[in-house]
Amino acid sequence: MESDQEHQDVGASNGQDHRGTGPPGLEGVSPGTHNVSEDSSRLQQAGSESGTPDEPTPSPQGLQEPEAEDIKTVPAGDTIYASATSFEDLNLSEDLLKGIYTEMKFEKPSRIQALTLPMILTPPHRSLIAQAHNGSGKTTCFTLAMLSRVDPVVAQPQAICVCPTRELVAQNLMVLEKMAKHTTIKATSSLAGTQFSRNHRITEQVVIGTHGTLKNWMSKRILSFRFARILVFDEADEMLKMDGFASDSVRMIGTLRKDAQQHVQILLFSATFNEKVKNYALRVVRDNGREDANQVFVPREDLSLDVIKQYRVDCPTPLDKVSVLKEMIFPQCEKLGQTIIFVRTREVARSLHAAMENEGHRCTSIRGDMDNELRDKVVNEFRNGTTKILISTDVLSRGFDVTQVTLVINYDVPVEKDWTTPAYETYLHRIGRSGRFGRKGAAFNLVSGEQEKRILDSISEYFKHDIPEVPFNDEDEFLEVLKQAGLTDG
Ligand code: ADP
Ligand code: MG
Repeated sequence: MESDQEHQDVGASNGQDHRGTGPPGLEGVSPGTHNVSEDSSRLQQAGSESGTPDEPTPSPQGLQEPEAEDIKTVPAGDTIYASATSFEDLNLSEDLLKGIYTEMKFEKPSRIQALTLPMILTPPHRSLIAQAHNGSGKTTCFTLAMLSRVDPVVAQPQAICVCPTRELVAQNLMVLEKMAKHTTIKATSSLAGTQFSRNHRITEQVVIGTHGTLKNWMSKRILSFRFARILVFDEADEMLKMDGFASDSVRMIGTLRKDAQQHVQILLFSATFNEKVKNYALRVVRDNGREDANQVFVPREDLSLDVIKQYRVDCPTPLDKVSVLKEMIFPQCEKLGQTIIFVRTREVARSLHAAMENEGHRCTSIRGDMDNELRDKVVNEFRNGTTKILISTDVLSRGFDVTQVTLVINYDVPVEKDWTTPAYETYLHRIGRSGRFGRKGAAFNLVSGEQEKRILDSISEYFKHDIPEVPFNDEDEFLEVLKQAGLTDG
């Protein structure tokens, strides 16, 4: 696997760094070697008293969802599905309703939940490809699906959920366990894997994992698919990307269909499905025409959420990006909730973190080549609010749900592996780390040089969404746009 696939499941220390392979970024500002681990523990000590729990507080203005016609539904066959208006409409068990109301504190289903759950839960339990905006509540769709479709009396894996990163595995397990709190359903994840001996057999009804570990368990017969009835891919377009996980995913679908004693329902969820991946996904799920699948899609130009205000900052030199962070952004961060700064490579993550720490700005960073324990620590500190600013490679660009994140900085514009093609989907996923479930959000895109400008222009064109400029050295203008985005009072 390529070492620059930071958004994928890169295990600890098995990747290489990008030293000097990328475009000019931080040369000259990095003080060289830097021990992130020391910084993190220092930060933990410093902030341990100010941590706030990550309770899902309801959005003050409620969920701002797009109009109904933005979502296109293509039901297979002649089954008619009624959209649910309350969780009670879904015939969920009392135990699950208790989880939804008392643990999750949800009041009513979001649009995608209301639309997809009847499709998923109604016999003949057709497979589904569902696209919906970032932060619109897709996790709840497949979590309730898995919890509703397994038999708690049977101590065998029945629902499998595959995710691209260990952070997403941890997050999805956390949500599922919370939702399942009043049921007797048990779940496990690939994060527990190291403790399993050769003769261990998984008896939990729900298994969440990354491909690598699940494959390993299958080959050792630790994980059996005989009782499997539902298979979920979160971030499904990523899981079916040709130069990524496609072959692993397709093989897993094949094995499941072969080993399971009953029909396996496949659910593919993502905020993004480009035409190519969508057609491929349809082919795979339909099993070359042997099955039919329901579909839910959002037109591309409606994907970029208006609640997330997006701006471009033209920086005359790459070094000016650092000044923008230091002079325009960091001084506001205390007022802003939390911020994620996305960078292209591990090396930039490392050196930018070092440069900021050197200037006395508190932040942490996460990269795919950090060991798992440290990755978990950095994520947990950010989740509980101990740290406010996180520098990340694309390892966190998808799925990561921290509701307090209001600001996303694209320190580097997102590009595909060839370094020149705009990474449209990644852009949408990155900015979608803010503005979760209708909350406020803003994104600054720092661009320097013709190529970066061209890439951002084509992203703006692709989503048919204007990205107005903020002058890189105009503090008043920065304050004004933050205010306009609803992030500060002024
Ligand atoms: P995505 O569609 O991007 O996967 P998530 O499933 O991560 O979105 O949900 C985003 C946020 O919205 C989460 O913090 C989740 O707890 C919250 N959420 C989901 N469904 C509801 C609901 N019905 N009512 C209130 N909050 C919800
Ligand atoms: Mg998600």
